[in-house]
Amino acid sequence: MKAGHDIRFIDFHTHNRTTAADTVAVVNLMAGDNVPADFPGNMLFSAGIHPWRLTDENAEQMRTELLLTAAHPHVVLIGEAGFDRLRGAQGEIQMNVFIFQAALAEETGRPMVIHCVKGWDELRRARREIKPGRPWVIHGFRGSGSLAASLAKEGFWFSLGAKGLTTEVLAAVDHERLLLETDDSGEAIEEVYRIFEAAAGYDTRQAESLIRNNFNLLMNFSL
Ligand SMILES: [Zn+2]
Repeated sequence: MKAGHDIRFIDFHTHNRTTAADTVAVVNLMAGDNVPADFPGNMLFSAGIHPWRLTDENAEQMRTELLLTAAHPHVVLIGEAGFDRLRGAQGEIQMNVFIFQAALAEETGRPMVIHCVKGWDELRRARREIKPGRPWVIHGFRGSGSLAASLAKEGFWFSLGAKGLTTEVLAAVDHERLLLETDDSGEAIEEVYRIFEAAAGYDTRQAESLIRNNFNLLMNFSL
């Protein structure tokens, strides 16, 4: 990992496999993907079974593949994993596969990256069951301020992209439990920081040090 003074931006969740020298990027892998043989020192990975990829038939195989992908030492987060009421296998299978991933995260002391579309009740139920010791970060959150406030109260962290950075959500969540991301938008992370600064009233330096500190706290790093 590069020394802290070189790093300005943390892109907490991205599918873009190239990263600038001043950015730490957490690149998302799906279960069964290989960690690239060659990657820069400022690139980290998350690995999970995305609910979109899950079918009734492949659940068992996905679990095995995740164990292989997640064994790599640069896979520092489990996910994206979660609940989606609109896409992918539904019901029990989604819950079982999520619980499997949450248990893996617990056993290995890793935080989770959460994908959740309308499945908030299921997510809360899973959290009550697992009682995680490390944070669960809801990525790409685009809900209301009141939903954000109630999830924040239950201990969830948030990773917001350009479209999620509303003044309403920023007023509802703890800024010490906040990260920023580009996901699959193709935007530059710097641009997401600019939007965050404007919406939250921070200057560039404040925003960069806040997010870096949050990431360090989340990961037990010292960037
Ligand atoms: Zn994603």
